[in-house]
Amino acid sequence: MVKLYAPRLALAMAILGVFMLPPTESYAAKTWLEKLFQTQHHKPAKKRKPRAAARAPGDKIVLPDTAPLPEPSPRVAVGAGAIAATAPAVTEAKPSPPGPEEKPPQGQAEVETPAPSGAAVEPQAESPASPPTPTPRPDDPQPGSPQPDTSQPAAPAPEAAQPVEPPKPEFRPDKPQPEAVEQKPAEPPPPPDPRSALRADPSGKLPDDEIACRRRLSELGVKFTPRPAETDPLGCSIPYPIVVKSLGPEFELAPDAEMNCAMAEAAARFAKDVVSPAAQDIFGETLKSISHASAYVCRPRNGTNKLSEHAFGNALDIASFKLSGGTTVAVEPAPPEKNLKFLTRVRGSACGPFKTVLGPGSNSDHAEHLHFDLAPRKHGGTVCE
Ligand SMILES: [Zn+2]
Repeated sequence: MVKLYAPRLALAMAILGVFMLPPTESYAAKTWLEKLFQTQHHKPAKKRKPRAAARAPGDKIVLPDTAPLPEPSPRVAVGAGAIAATAPAVTEAKPSPPGPEEKPPQGQAEVETPAPSGAAVEPQAESPASPPTPTPRPDDPQPGSPQPDTSQPAAPAPEAAQPVEPPKPEFRPDKPQPEAVEQKPAEPPPPPDPRSALRADPSGKLPDDEIACRRRLSELGVKFTPRPAETDPLGCSIPYPIVVKSLGPEFELAPDAEMNCAMAEAAARFAKDVVSPAAQDIFGETLKSISHASAYVCRPRNGTNKLSEHAFGNALDIASFKLSGGTTVAVEPAPPEKNLKFLTRVRGSACGPFKTVLGPGSNSDHAEHLHFDLAPRKHGGTVCE
């Protein structure tokens, strides 16, 4: 009981003392008593909270240095307030250091600078200086740069999509081109060759020119046998074909070759007048045999729909020459020097007796044989490549 009444008694005595003091001093004492009375009957936290909440960011600036001091306790502040009239200003700083309510502003600053939790008091003290800068920073990037940045990339994306579309039309024009190329090979219908319509006389009687040709072959010593007419749906035709076994009494042909009489006569004369003399001059040997790759073959020219001269028995492909002394000269892209000299002379002399001469270097199809034919051309034109 004594403890309960002791403070009240002291308070009553103090009040009486105040009224006994001079007017100026009594006023200061009254204000002190009023504050003392309020601190005893009112919880400090309630008053401080509203103050701290109202001051939130701005008031912190002054607090940092004074903040650690008020920490001891609100009770000490009461005593300190009795000592100095400026104490209230200090006590006002108290709410900011504990500042549980001010954490939200800290959370904003934490976004940029994740300060350690233990230094919570120090960041608050620094916050007066830093908050202005950190808070605007997160605010600026969020509404300002980051959002426009995210919005801008979205804009360039369509721009990138637009340039992608233009190339497509570029490829489209390319597509029609290959289609045109595909149509081109189909466009040229093979021109009909008049020789495709030639047929042998049903009576089996030979035309006069055919009889004359075969007589000349016999005079050249060519061995041959007649063969039934060749016809084919593709247009291949030889009305009076022969199978040639030799090009003369001294010139063999291997293997036997089917052709028309005119081609056989040209080959026989060419062997006698050109090939054998060239072998004599270059190798000191005479021609013994000619090996051919193909004679009559019912086929079009390579890569075309036009019938080859082979389809009319009007061509001969020579693969090699065998000489009397055992020398063999093969037709090849890079023959030995002596062989090349022989082949060059034979090939050059063939242009005239034969209307078409092809061989190594003309194209890939003739890299290993000489193609001779009697293709009919206007004015007796020749193609020698
Ligand atoms: Zn050929």
